[in-house]
Amino acid sequence: MNYSTVWQKACTQITQVIPRHCLFCLEKTHNHLELCNPCIAALSLNKDCCHRCASPLETSLKQSISLCGNCLSHNYYYDRVYSPLLYAEEMRYLIKKLKYQKKIHYASLLSQLFIQKSHHLKNFYLPQAILPVPMHTKRLRQRGFNQALELGRFFASHYQLPLNYSHLIRIRHTNLQAGMNAKERQKNVQQAFSLKHALPYEHVALIDDVMTTGSTVNEAAKVLKQNGVKQVDVWIIARAGLKI
Ligand SMILES: [Zn+2]
Ligand SMILES: [Zn+2]
Repeated sequence: MNYSTVWQKACTQITQVIPRHCLFCLEKTHNHLELCNPCIAALSLNKDCCHRCASPLETSLKQSISLCGNCLSHNYYYDRVYSPLLYAEEMRYLIKKLKYQKKIHYASLLSQLFIQKSHHLKNFYLPQAILPVPMHTKRLRQRGFNQALELGRFFASHYQLPLNYSHLIRIRHTNLQAGMNAKERQKNVQQAFSLKHALPYEHVALIDDVMTTGSTVNEAAKVLKQNGVKQVDVWIIARAGLKI
């Protein structure tokens, strides 16, 4: 059985409505997810955020402005970030389980949380293709999978969009960014991406699990824009600020 067949079988099992217990409260979920509806409803929404980079805005500012200070003073290569949930305690738990404890099936739950909560997003338009942020082969060997690709598989399947993970590649192994400040992150990912073949799309969505400063997706978007892609959206499961 090849990888694709295994994945399709896993998807079928995941989407079947079978009795499940909520990962947080342990009650029966009464849905096909691993979280019950009250626990899903209690997740922290990223409602008051920058209209460009989805960075959570300070409480005192959110009524009066639509862009954060960074977006007012910088030009980013990506067009817009969509991230309906905050990287608060619950999302941090789920994403860390996916990435560091190899709970690959959590990619289904996380992508479905994005899909459910995306109804809160304004001006959310579908792209022509889904592009997971690529991982360098060295990191891929260490981790065994690319969480962005696993998320992308579910998005592509749900929205019936092509999944492209072969054109945009990571050509430089970069250090893990946790603990770095904004400038260090920016330097860390410089020249990290390349386009192997021209993309036949004008509008794509880059997929990643968490965004903090956005240095990584901006560097990937730069390569896409320099190679003819006109609109680069970014879909992020949970949005962090540098303070979190
Ligand atoms: Zn629950
Ligand atoms: Zn912003």
